[in-house]
Amino acid sequence: MNEIYECANCGCTIENEEDLYEVEDQIICEDCFNDETFTCSHCGDRFFYRNSVSDDNTAICQNCYDNYYRRCERCGCIIHDDNVYWDGDYPYCSDCYDEEEQCRHIHDYGYKPVPIFYRCSDEGENVRCYGVELEIDRGGKDDDNADTLESISNREEEILYIKSDGSLDEGMELVSHPCSLYFHKYDFPWEEIMKRAVRLGYRSHNTSTCGLHVHIGRCSLGNTYERQEDVISRILFFFESHWNELFRFSRRSEESAEHWAARHGYEDRPKEILEKAKKSSKGRYACVNITNISTVEIRLFRGTLKWNTFMASLELVDAICENAIRHSDEELHKQSWADFVMDLSPEYTELITYLKEKRLYVNEPVETEEED
Ligand SMILES: [Zn+2]
Ligand SMILES: [Zn+2]
Ligand SMILES: [Zn+2]
Ligand SMILES: [Zn+2]
Repeated sequence: MNEIYECANCGCTIENEEDLYEVEDQIICEDCFNDETFTCSHCGDRFFYRNSVSDDNTAICQNCYDNYYRRCERCGCIIHDDNVYWDGDYPYCSDCYDEEEQCRHIHDYGYKPVPIFYRCSDEGENVRCYGVELEIDRGGKDDDNADTLESISNREEEILYIKSDGSLDEGMELVSHPCSLYFHKYDFPWEEIMKRAVRLGYRSHNTSTCGLHVHIGRCSLGNTYERQEDVISRILFFFESHWNELFRFSRRSEESAEHWAARHGYEDRPKEILEKAKKSSKGRYACVNITNISTVEIRLFRGTLKWNTFMASLELVDAICENAIRHSDEELHKQSWADFVMDLSPEYTELITYLKEKRLYVNEPVETEEED
């Protein structure tokens, strides 16, 4: 005679051995098997629904959930660890992360919107534009603060966005869309932003972490690739020829320059420095970073929340570009720092004042104010 089994779930009698099922170490009937159990989509074992973790699309066992999955903070769906998007300590599915990103003020480090170019109304299409990255620290990686600063910059149009930056302790990175020098100087409310940032407790110069980076569009350095390479090589040559002056200008310590904005090393011909820079192991942590496809990044400067110093730095970058565009290799070879300075357009008002402050100008220095 056959052994008689009782379903551990509903208590019914199972007469045929073929009709019995084993789930979670219990013998159950076919109906219970079909109606009350499921196959874990991760491990493939069978479990009771009451022990499942599920959303609209996925059912998995508790054990698999505990080891490999999380729930999205926003919609509650189940996400495999490999597919989790983190916002701080909170896990999100990719859809929710994207939607949250829309209303977040501090974007991921990798955030890269399509660039919008801003020029003053009387400037032509071809004027060179500069994308600025200004790191600020010590005031918190705080979305409300980011909102406050953006509400100053983006009153009319989106000219600034804010990103998180792993190299900062309690700060963030302010990133401008590419703007002409005059736009930065006369239309961009940098001064108001900087003053507010200081009031919110941020510092930039007075940290060991912050830099000021300026991106130059390669296209604005020449019409052809060869021409761009020529100009870039002369920018590199200028840095190597006048490193002592530029280093003093940068306000960096030797250690910080070496770490974040290292020089490539002097060679007699600009193209040799370019070749060396291309093979360099410094990656982007070079005073002139040429690893980006569409921009050259000047990383020389220590951060600052003092508008005059900030603007002097942008004017210097512009002057170095002009100098590399207008002069030949031979002319650059013969050019001393004093030649460069004496040749500066008087429109570089902040640059000329700053050079005097730093005793980098040929004339006597002037009084100077503290940095923040
Ligand atoms: Zn049953
Ligand atoms: Zn499982
Ligand atoms: Zn979600
Ligand atoms: Zn940068």
